[in-house]
Amino acid sequence: HAKLLGDRRHIAFSEDMAQRSIEMMNLENDLRHALNREELELHYQPKVSGHDGSVVGAEALIRWRHPRLGLVGPGDFIPLAEESGLIIPMGRWTLVTACKQYMLWQAEGIAPDSVSVNVSMRQFTDTSLLESVRDVLETTGIPPGCLDLEITESVMTGNVERAVSILNGLKSLGVTLSMDDFGTGYSSLNYLKTFPIDTLKIDQTFVRDLSHDTKDAAIVTTIVTLARNLGFNVIAEGVESHDQLAFLIGSDCPLFQGYLASRPLPVDAFTEFLRSRLPRGTVSATPPAS
Ligand code: C2E
Ligand code: MG
Ligand code: MG
Ligand code: MG
Repeated sequence: HAKLLGDRRHIAFSEDMAQRSIEMMNLENDLRHALNREELELHYQPKVSGHDGSVVGAEALIRWRHPRLGLVGPGDFIPLAEESGLIIPMGRWTLVTACKQYMLWQAEGIAPDSVSVNVSMRQFTDTSLLESVRDVLETTGIPPGCLDLEITESVMTGNVERAVSILNGLKSLGVTLSMDDFGTGYSSLNYLKTFPIDTLKIDQTFVRDLSHDTKDAAIVTTIVTLARNLGFNVIAEGVESHDQLAFLIGSDCPLFQGYLASRPLPVDAFTEFLRSRLPRGTVSATPPAS
């Protein structure tokens, strides 16, 4: 303690740590109630075509409207939810909510091609996933091809055969599969041959410095070529600038997500976004009201 007393920064750091672990314990406790108290919400980020700005998809991104802390991002509670197992009921809620929302958009004639839901490692390996997905298709009536599940390469760090069989099970239900954060995880290209996935999502870390980092540029063009040659769709994440988009379009990767098109939006704002930008292939008889 004598040592600590002499170093104010050190004390501050320790107090910070203590404060932080108390916050974390409280957070885990609060999280148990978040679902019942309806504190969770989904925001949506568009997947957009750089050619004409049309919206081809919507990704659901979970947020927690904490009564004291305000809006908490998934990075701050998904790990907790995974550890505690809460991710399972939470994941079910997310699936149902996103699919119901999609059906509302469809009823209004503004639905994009698909809605994407993120599925984390623990959800993926849980035996209830297939049943949950089958169930949500049935109860919401969403066309299976309009539900896209985003998984990460981390699912390949476990039992590969099991992962492939889970993916095949999901595919047999008719949903589509995207590989999120591609290029940042398990690096073997071998699994791409056996993986029944539809889309590679180029991780935002490669996109960030695209305009001035020639190595990132090389990685991006290589992923696009890989995707094309293997028959996958490809989309870039984290596009913030016109320069980045121009590079991507020039590299045969016109589909993107990122702040350039829109931040993730609360559902009402996203619905407005859809109304203002009719989905691909839609011919509008009357221009949308402004
Ligand atoms: P992700 O699926 O890779 O989502 C992309 C993240 O990048 C989102 O962060 C999004 O807000 C952010 N982002 C989008 N465009 C840009 C951009 O132009 N620039 C920058 N700097 N960032 C951008 P968010 O919403 O905090 O989500 C983080 C991660 O949490 C997600 O990464 C996903 O892995 C996970 N996650 C989100 N929602 C869910 C969910 O419902 N269930 C599960 N299991 N995981 C979720
Ligand atoms: Mg995602
Ligand atoms: Mg991602
Ligand atoms: Mg991510």
